Amino acid sequence: MFEDARAAVHAAKRIAVLTGAGVSAESGIPTFRSNGGFWRNNRFEDLATPEGFARDPKFVWQWYEERRRGIAATRPNAGHEALVRLEERTPDFTLITQNVDGLHDAAGSKNVIRLHGDIWTLRCTKCGAERVSREELKDLPPNCKCGGIERPGVVWFGEDLPPGAIERAAEAVQRAEVLIVAGTSAQVYPAAGLIPLALRHGATVIEINPEETDFSDEVTIALRGKSAEILPQLV
Ligand code: NAD
Repeated sequence: MFEDARAAVHAAKRIAVLTGAGVSAESGIPTFRSNGGFWRNNRFEDLATPEGFARDPKFVWQWYEERRRGIAATRPNAGHEALVRLEERTPDFTLITQNVDGLHDAAGSKNVIRLHGDIWTLRCTKCGAERVSREELKDLPPNCKCGGIERPGVVWFGEDLPPGAIERAAEAVQRAEVLIVAGTSAQVYPAAGLIPLALRHGATVIEINPEETDFSDEVTIALRGKSAEILPQLV
């Protein structure tokens, strides 16, 4: 099974990859659903909705700033690095990520679609201006030059994805001969819908996850294990 996956990856000229929180687990970033995971003792309605932010922007920012500092102390792992090598040798390669941590960029991946935004981007709630800052944010909530309050540039529950992102991802998946799905529980839509889309278009879909997901029975090849170990072997 592993050899079949490796052969498919090596033969393909058009590859798409969908990643989730699991690919960053071995860098030390907790996944969404892991024990003591992403939200810990907080309710996501308070931290990850526009309504929660409107109620208490300082509280939301304090939590995001703690996440930002935690992520700033991490480094890409062997899984992120393997995907950079795969991009270098594949003529048509698209990396679609649900992660907001920026570790694919830090590793050197180039063609990245960030479906759920980026924790290092700040966006003004008044004029919409965006800026990237990795600095520690001291005065919370931060303010835009126009005077408006800035928010984290991530997609919250119930919000639209960044303009054009899912369309570009769907095009890449429909072209792909191989779709690698790594480190995602595939429960968040529309991202998870890319898996059946690839299958309908005849792609070989390879899942990498230590646990079963809702799509494990449908994918072409399910590889059980950690992405930082399996991706380098596959590539
Ligand atoms: P998820 O937490 O729902 O699922 C993580 C998946 O990764 C699980 O299926 C788990 O079995 C698997 N996994 C755990 N360790 C792994 C490893 N070492 N190698 C491979 N797989 C491993 O995450 P999701 O599907 O990405 O959905 C959660 C949402 O939360 C996303 O929308 C994302 O935007 C956000 N989120 C992002 C980060 C991040 O940027 N690093 C972290 C947590 C949550």
